[in-house]
Amino acid sequence: MAFYSATIGGTSVAGEADFVVTNPATGQEAGRAPNLGAADLDRAVDAARAAFSGWSARSDSELQRICSAVTSRIEEHADELATIITLEQGKPLNGLGSRWEMGGTVAWAGYTTGLSLPVKVLQDNAEGRVELHRKPVGVVGSITPWNFPVMIAIWHIMPALRTGNTVVVKPSPLTPLSTLRLVEIMNEVLPPGVLNVVTSDDKGFNLGAAMAAHPGINKIVFTGSIATGQKVMQSAASNMKRLTLELGGNDAGIVLPDADPDKIAEGLFWGAFINNGQTCAALKRLYVHESIHDAVCEALVAYARNIPVGNGMEETSILGPVQNRMQFEKLSRLVADAAGRGKVLLGGAPGEGLFFPPTIVAGLSNGDALVDEEQFGPALPVIKYADVDDAVRMANDSPNGLGGSVWSSDISAAKAVAARMECGSVWINKHGAIQPNAPFGGVKASGFGVEFAEEGLKEYTDIQVIFA
Ligand code: NAD
Repeated sequence: MAFYSATIGGTSVAGEADFVVTNPATGQEAGRAPNLGAADLDRAVDAARAAFSGWSARSDSELQRICSAVTSRIEEHADELATIITLEQGKPLNGLGSRWEMGGTVAWAGYTTGLSLPVKVLQDNAEGRVELHRKPVGVVGSITPWNFPVMIAIWHIMPALRTGNTVVVKPSPLTPLSTLRLVEIMNEVLPPGVLNVVTSDDKGFNLGAAMAAHPGINKIVFTGSIATGQKVMQSAASNMKRLTLELGGNDAGIVLPDADPDKIAEGLFWGAFINNGQTCAALKRLYVHESIHDAVCEALVAYARNIPVGNGMEETSILGPVQNRMQFEKLSRLVADAAGRGKVLLGGAPGEGLFFPPTIVAGLSNGDALVDEEQFGPALPVIKYADVDDAVRMANDSPNGLGGSVWSSDISAAKAVAARMECGSVWINKHGAIQPNAPFGGVKASGFGVEFAEEGLKEYTDIQVIFA
């Protein structure tokens, strides 16, 4: 299988050793990545620092022109990257899988390229002129998870580059290959050192931790778990790094009594099971009014039972395997526990290898582990409620605050409930539908800072006010 090189200072780097990346659908090797160490990270940071003065000095229109050329390059390689994603991540080529991820990647790259942060004149009168300028922060370290390896990397990289920063990106050791190839492709257009990628198997030397502590990095943008995000925050204090932390969610959905079960079943399913539930803003707990509880469960199960699960490389597969053994075991434990407390309506038993069928369990409540923990897999607990105030209270009774949803035929009633939910995004009659022109971020333990749109771009800048 193929070996994918790192790129440091515009040059391919193989490192002294490599590590194997496993295809979760087959257990076979998907490819190999360089196992880099502290000296390689120093070289990557040095390359990014050296490239910073030239890159940040470019005019806004030049940065835009180059970012636009980069976007076209990514688009040309979308099929190739989708295949690598499927081989290492497991998600299918089809459905809301790797081709869909690449579609999103190109859309985000293009939209971000088109944004800009012009100088804002705050005052211009006889007393003087006051201007607000936005300047790049310097070298941005991007640390990404394994669930959407290319799209999340682009969410970090493009706004950083667009605002004149240089970047060192580090993908998850579980899915490094697509990011290594992505950066290689982007380097066909970018000047050397503007975008660098480093990888490690995280056994022994922890590359992400070294980045968070590195004195040559000015900002970390991190997408991953809350526990790791807390470590990043501690390390970042050493040189006052700027931070964007997009952390875990345990999103709740509230179905109001006037919702139509048959109309909402498809949206509920994909809200929960997109990417096999391995999605930060997936529906993780569903609170359904007692008057329609059974009808909603029936409609959801009827929709879910027809979804083909299989090897993502097969064109017929719509859901793939769970991405890794740790996640699979956590899911198996939580589902087994839930089965003893509630009623399994669909799935419930692990399949072969890392395959786990879509699982729906009713009869649960807050306090059950499948409801309380971010389980990050293809399982949805359904909780019955009698009073909407109780539903809101249970939905908010969580340390997480990423997304939420309300399902109803009455949009204003739904919006009134949405306003009471403690989370960064609330969707009505859908869940998890993000878009590049709408800021996205969590509250409470789901992190801080936002991505996307102009608000997201600002996160890669420091302000300078000039009083003339
Ligand atoms: P993780 O926290 O285990 O790893 C994320 C990244 O951090 C990886 O690249 C990993 O190598 C690196 N890392 C490991 N130890 C580190 C350390 N001490 N310091 C710095 N970096 C370190 O998360 P994961 O298992 O890869 O991803 C799943 C998690 O990501 C879930 O909790 C999910 O909710 C979250 N997530 C959040 C969002 C969001 O936008 N809020 C999006 C996707 C995933």
